[in-house]
Amino acid sequence: MKYLTFSILLFLGATVLISSCKEDDEPCIETIWYEDADDDGLGNPNVSRVSCDQPDGFVADNTDPNDTGIASTPLSAFDEFNPDAVTVSFDGNEITIESNGVPNHTSPYWEETHPLYIERVVAVAQTPGRINDTRSYSLTVSNTPELAANGTVTGLGPIGIAVSGVPIFNDTEGPNNPLEEMIAETLDYAGAHNGPSGYHYHIESFDVPENTLLSHNDEKLVGIMSDGFLIYGRKEADGSYPTDLDESGGHFGTTLHSNGEEIYHYHIINEYYFGNVVVLFGGEIQGTPNDIF
Ligand SMILES: [Zn+2]
Ligand SMILES: [Zn+2]
Repeated sequence: MKYLTFSILLFLGATVLISSCKEDDEPCIETIWYEDADDDGLGNPNVSRVSCDQPDGFVADNTDPNDTGIASTPLSAFDEFNPDAVTVSFDGNEITIESNGVPNHTSPYWEETHPLYIERVVAVAQTPGRINDTRSYSLTVSNTPELAANGTVTGLGPIGIAVSGVPIFNDTEGPNNPLEEMIAETLDYAGAHNGPSGYHYHIESFDVPENTLLSHNDEKLVGIMSDGFLIYGRKEADGSYPTDLDESGGHFGTTLHSNGEEIYHYHIINEYYFGNVVVLFGGEIQGTPNDIF
């Protein structure tokens, strides 16, 4: 009897063994998996494994150009800059943005003989001077900008370069002189006027038919700030308003250019400064500011 039981057990065991062997032999579909070290859902094209099942920390995607956790500035953003005014060059981990400050849009600040000259649309007065091409602005930033321990208060002069090539100024006009209605009345529909250092933006552009290029209450790229972080319009790429912005309008998230990767970037804060005036950038620089000279 003992012997019989043993035989049955042996038989059952053999059956299980055979069937499990069969399972092992079944062909599985091997897939290439890519490492996702920064856990953003995007994989590193240079680190891969081939297996049937998804290994821990690996994903099917292979489009993460920077999987170290330190996000790099998406280079496709620079395609948005006005090539007639702006030259972008790359050297190792540095990006240099050079501009002659000459916009590619209409303005009453052009010489009246210039093809882009128009009569005033929103400005009721003008500051002295006209747009000319004798300016030169240069900004060199890291392609992996990082937040600084403390913010930096912005000063007079350029604090960023807009996609048009025109420098971005803050919410003051002269030392301790915040933008006020009389100054705002000199701003054209682009949110710019002329000053001793040239034509420059202070505020978001206006929604007028003449405005065909500049961000107004949308998701467009506005430019790059002196710390190397990009600045976008009031909205996210999906058309929603961001709800988690810091006091400078910055947050981590995906953008039109970041290919699904979360990067720190600024937005124009969806808030009226006074009247219908929305300031481009009135907060502190959250990274390490570089000189624009
Ligand atoms: Zn100004
Ligand atoms: Zn955003």
